[in-house]
Amino acid sequence: MAQSEQSVSPAAQPPVGQSSGGLPMVLPRTSESDTLKRIRHTFSHVMAMAVQKLFPKAQVTIGPWIDYGFYYDFDNPEPFTEQDLKAIKKEMVKIINKGLPVVQETVTREDAQSRIEALGEPYKLEILQDLEEPITLYHLGDEWWDLCAGPHVASTADLNPKAFDLESVAGAYWRGDEKRAQLQRIYGTAWKPQSSFRNTNAAVKKPSAATTAAG
Ligand SMILES: [Zn+2]
Repeated sequence: MAQSEQSVSPAAQPPVGQSSGGLPMVLPRTSESDTLKRIRHTFSHVMAMAVQKLFPKAQVTIGPWIDYGFYYDFDNPEPFTEQDLKAIKKEMVKIINKGLPVVQETVTREDAQSRIEALGEPYKLEILQDLEEPITLYHLGDEWWDLCAGPHVASTADLNPKAFDLESVAGAYWRGDEKRAQLQRIYGTAWKPQSSFRNTNAAVKKPSAATTAAG
């Protein structure tokens, strides 16, 4: 959705994409591949679904794709740990392997509002207020849904469970406003199934691991 993309500033991203010496590293740019956008956007929803399964008190906000992957901001009573990331990743693989269809549904504002109220998701409600019509929901099977304009892949089966990783957690204010709630942003990376994930990931991991250790 539009406002989620606006909130992505280069400064908010961890220093991935910087080669740690040696071979130059060329990462595929999201702007060059509609498929990658779809893959990464779908991964962000799969991650949010996994987080809410494991942490029922977690509330979802926004989860856009970014140049090398995706992130999603959550409001959760406890900070996510490295162990949590491993558990979330495991849950994501389960969701991918279920092959859940990713189905768009267009709804009225009133319908969206009542469904969000039933879920008790105040951030979603705030997002809805700023959305222009048509308002679309995306379902992952009949288990989970999110407000989103898309696009996504057709099924979680189109995601490669070996072509993604969860990299780090960082604090982020809701809507970038330090007077608002402090959220936890989980960064992930994801690639096309056939791309050389192994190579790029090895290079991406180094600075990211340093970031995590320092934070
Ligand atoms: Zn989406």
